[in-house]
Order: sequence, then structure tokens, then C-alpha cells
Amino acid sequence: MIPAKSKAEIDIMREAGRIVAEVHAGLRELVRPGVTTHELDAWAEKKIRSRGATPTFKGYRGFPAALCTSVNEQVVHGIPSKKVRLEEGDIVGIDVGATYRGYVGDAAWTYAVGKIAPELQALMEATEEALWRAIRVARVGKRVGDIGHAVESYIDPLGYGIVRDFCGHGVGAAMHEEPQVPNYGRPGKGPRLRHGYCIAIEPMINLGVEETIVLEDEWTVVTADRKPSAHFEHSVAITRDGPLILTALDDTLARKYLV
Ligand code: MG
Repeated sequence: MIPAKSKAEIDIMREAGRIVAEVHAGLRELVRPGVTTHELDAWAEKKIRSRGATPTFKGYRGFPAALCTSVNEQVVHGIPSKKVRLEEGDIVGIDVGATYRGYVGDAAWTYAVGKIAPELQALMEATEEALWRAIRVARVGKRVGDIGHAVESYIDPLGYGIVRDFCGHGVGAAMHEEPQVPNYGRPGKGPRLRHGYCIAIEPMINLGVEETIVLEDEWTVVTADRKPSAHFEHSVAITRDGPLILTALDDTLARKYLV
């Protein structure tokens, strides 16, 4: 059963998403060579709480932090640490979750640390483009398979690995709701998208192979070949007027694909 949200619920989710976007806007400035992922996490938690929200990830199945910070070969779910100091040339995927008035906003972005290699820049740009292509097809009457196909059909010819072990998801009162939103799929297949569905779309794209491994901390996901990975995510409401980007910083971007 996929829960459709009311207008009032979507309004609250937009506020939760705006808080997440504000955190990302701050992180974009803070990410630089020499900063630790713990410092980023501490700042983000303070920012989330200052907006009257709570960090969704902290305590989720025992996760210890407000952010997931995944550096280079880490795909998702990296744990912030005082020992992880970002270096020039790294890329870091940062996932932010904020719960506001009972509803979750969830968005991830991959940031360059100083100057990065062209192949990493290209990987990041392709992953972000895959996200926008997927958002564009998140419309009433389309199906979950159309979203996955939008990612897969764009990424496959580029030769990158599309992560299959993790996927996007419905989002609402819980961080993970139905449906699952894979980054691959066949057009016209899967659950039909209806007005009021809210989903997190999140391509995770690897420079090398698609396979992943979970490290001994039982959280950190790395690529099987230890090549870098990028991750971009927005929470999106499917409406009769088109996709509303809940985790956009400003309303112009949020309404970018509304007709
Ligand atoms: Mg997510």
C-alpha cells in the first residue's frame, strides 16, 4: 500500500525539505580540504535542530550521526568521524535527513573537495543529470519503471556501474515507505504513480563495477572494486501539475517541472 499525501501533508514535507536544502547550502560552503566529516555532522545537527526539526538518521537502526558522509569509494551510509579529514581531490556524498512536524525530508549531494580529477567531475555531472532526468518523468500516470529507465538509459551508455543493492524509496511520516524506486527498470512497468505520492529519487553511480560491499562497521557501503561513487538525491512529490521538488532550496527550483 502506497500512501498518498494530502495537500496539508505535502506542505509540511516541503518545509522539512527546505530545512534539508538549507543544510546542504551550508555544507556546500563548509566542504573543503582539512575539514573532518565529524565537523560537518556537528554543524548539520545544530542547524537541523535550530530549525525545529530532528536529524532523521540519528538513532535510525542505531546509526550514530545526523549525516551520512561517504568519501570516494564509499557509496552510501558512511559514518562521520573525527578521523576522516577531507583531502584535496576527494569527493564526498552527503546525505541529509530532517524530520519536521512528523514528516521527513531526505536529500543527498556529492561535493568536490578542492580540485578533483576530470573523471570524477564527469561522474558527478552524469549522476546529477540522471537525477534530473528521473525527476522529469515522475508524473501522474507514469510508473516506477519509467523513473528507473530514465536513469539506466542515460547512464548505461556512459559505461558506469549503476548500484542495484540500494535504491530510492517512498518518503513521508517514515523515511522509507513504499514503493522502492530502483535506478534501473523497464518503461511502463512497476507501480503507477498517483497524485500525492512522495518519493526519494537517488541514483548511486559507480566509476567502475556496480557491485557493492558493506564494511565491518555494518553501515559503510563501498564499491567492490574500490573505485569512486557518486550519489544525488531529491525528495519529490508527484502532483497533478507535475513533480514538486520538496528538497529544493527555493520555490523556483521546487516548482521547476510544474506545468
Ligand atoms: Mg533516501
